Amino acid sequence: MAEQLSNSRSRDLDKLLLRPGNLVGPTFEPGADLRNDLQEYAKVLVVGAGGLGCELLKDLAFSGFKNLEVIDMDRIDVSNLNRQFLFRFEDVGKPKAEVAAKRVMERVSGVNIVPHFCRIEDKELEFYSDFSIIALGLDSVEARSYINSVACSFLEYDADDNPREDTLKPMVDGGTEGFKGHARVIMPGVTPCFECTIWLFPPQVKFPLCTLAETPRTAAHCIEYAHLIKWDEVHGGKAFDPDDPEHMQWIYSEAVKRAELFGIPGVTYTLTQGVVKNIIPAIASTNAIISAACALETLKIASGCSKTLSNYLTYNGAEGLHTKVTEFVRDKDCLVCGPGILIQLDTSVTLKKFIDQLEDHPKLHLSRVSVTYRGKNLYMQVPAVLEEMTRSNLDKPLYELMDKCGKDVVHVTGAAGKSGAKQSCLRKLRIVFKGIDGVVDMDVANGA
Ligand SMILES: [Zn+2]
Repeated sequence: MAEQLSNSRSRDLDKLLLRPGNLVGPTFEPGADLRNDLQEYAKVLVVGAGGLGCELLKDLAFSGFKNLEVIDMDRIDVSNLNRQFLFRFEDVGKPKAEVAAKRVMERVSGVNIVPHFCRIEDKELEFYSDFSIIALGLDSVEARSYINSVACSFLEYDADDNPREDTLKPMVDGGTEGFKGHARVIMPGVTPCFECTIWLFPPQVKFPLCTLAETPRTAAHCIEYAHLIKWDEVHGGKAFDPDDPEHMQWIYSEAVKRAELFGIPGVTYTLTQGVVKNIIPAIASTNAIISAACALETLKIASGCSKTLSNYLTYNGAEGLHTKVTEFVRDKDCLVCGPGILIQLDTSVTLKKFIDQLEDHPKLHLSRVSVTYRGKNLYMQVPAVLEEMTRSNLDKPLYELMDKCGKDVVHVTGAAGKSGAKQSCLRKLRIVFKGIDGVVDMDVANGA
C-alpha cells in the first residue's frame, strides 16, 4: 500500500523529469538520475511561513523536493487560522516556522524540513549561500529587499563583466494582496532583481487630507476623516490605539455621522478596522494560485524540465480573471545585482577609516557598518561578543585584513538611507588598492 502511494505521488513528476520534451531548458537531461539528484541535492529555502509560505512549503514537498528549510520570525496568531492551513487552534502562540515544518513532515513522507525561528537578518551570509534556490513568501518590501541583496551578493562577474553562472543564486518571489498576486523569477545578473524594479511597489496610497476634510466620496474617506482629523480634534494629544475596541468604536460612530452628512453608504465596523489598520483581506485561493506558480518555477529552475517564467507574472482575480506575463529588463546601473560599487583605496587605509567613508559615500549612506571578507568577519556591530572580538581590526589596514589582495570584493551590512527611513541592507563593494602590481587602474571614474 505504502509503495503504491509513493508511486502515485511521483507519477506526475516522472512525466516531467523522465521524458524529453520540446520546451525543456538547455541543460535538461531526463532520467531517473535527474529525479534522484533533485531529491538528494536540491536544497530550497522558503522565506516566510505565513499564508504564502505554508502553501509553498506544502507545494514544494509535493513537487519532489526533499531538503527544505523555512525561516520566519513570527508566532501563530488566532487570526491566521482561516488561511494558514498548517496551523491549528492549539498552535496559537507557537513559532510559525516550527509548526509549519512539523505539519508538512507529518503528511509528506521522506521530506526533511529544518525550521528557523528568527529574523532573516540574524542569519549569516554563509547560511543563505548553502541553498540552490530561495523561494520568497513574504508580505513586506523591506524583507524582500534584504533577501534580494543577500542573494545578489553571491554573484560574481568575470573580467568581461558577464555574470558567472556558478555564483548565481536564483530566487522565486511570490506576493499576494487580496484577489491580486504576482510570481516572478529572479536570476541575479540576468533578469531584473527586486531592486531593479523597486518602482513596482509604489508607496502606500494615502488620501490627501483636503479630500478627507472637504470632499469625501467614499466610506474609506469618512473613516480616515474620523481617524486622522476628528480624533485629534476631540482627544487632543491622546494617542489613538487601534487595538483598543473603545477607540475603534469611537472612530466607527464618528465615521457613520460623517457618512450620513454626505450621503455616503458603506461604513461598517469591519471596514473601519480594515481601513484604520490598513488591513487588506487575505484570500486563501490567491495564495494557493501564486504559490503553485512559484513552486512550479522552482521545480523548473532546479531540473531544467521546462523554460522558466520570463520573468514576472501578475494575477488579478478582482474583476473577472486576468493573468499576464511581463518581461522586465535589468537596470544596468543597479547597485545590488551589478558588479558592485568600485572603491579605490590606499593600502594604508584602516578598516575604521574605510567604514567612515561608507557613511559619507554619495550612493551608499551606510551607517552601523559590519564588514565581511570571503566569509571572514572583519568587523561586526552585533552581537556584542563578536564586536569585541573584531574590534582590534579597526586600526589595521584593510589591505592587510584582505590578505594583501590587490583587488577583491567585500560585503558590508548596515543601515542604508538618509535620516528617517533607514533599513537594513547588504552591499557588495569592489575594492581596488592603488599602486599594486597586476591591478590595472580600472575605469574608476566611471565605476565609482
Ligand atoms: Zn538589480
